[in-house]
Amino acid sequence: MAVEWKMPRRSERCVGCETAFEVGDVIFVSLYETADEGYERRDTCENCVIPDDPQRIGSWRTRRPEPSTPRTRPFDREALLGFFDRLAEPETLAQVQFRFVLALFLWRKKAIEFETSRPTDAGETWVFTQGERRIELERPPLDEDEVERLSLQLEELMQAGVPVDEASAEEPADA
Ligand SMILES: [Zn+2]
Repeated sequence: MAVEWKMPRRSERCVGCETAFEVGDVIFVSLYETADEGYERRDTCENCVIPDDPQRIGSWRTRRPEPSTPRTRPFDREALLGFFDRLAEPETLAQVQFRFVLALFLWRKKAIEFETSRPTDAGETWVFTQGERRIELERPPLDEDEVERLSLQLEELMQAGVPVDEASAEEPADA
């Protein structure tokens, strides 16, 4: 079954108070699955909190970038690894896909290393390592082009953002 994953673009205004975002404003991004296996993104300002219902599959903090400004801020490796770990037990196909693409993103950023892939009854397992740690992932039904496209989209979506949610909020934010 082909699953169309279109990563939604950022919003022009807060979904809570409808204030237009200005360059440099802090934006909280929440990503949700939709009934048709697509994705919905909701951006809120610093002052608006949206309930976690339906449950979001991912959230992070970013700033509205300058138009067409190249990314210059460093990639926040620990934050993204933490985000990846919180999706350690994906329950839906969408979460499996999201986590797999996030793994590819981390691999691209050299935060984890690819070790091997091996066939399983269900398909294929990809094995990554992070130091002494082994990370095994089921490869979801995505073709190579989709994976490449999603990985680039994720990179674009993250931009200079740092993923945050309740679980990571207490962690120090130093680089
Ligand atoms: Zn708002």
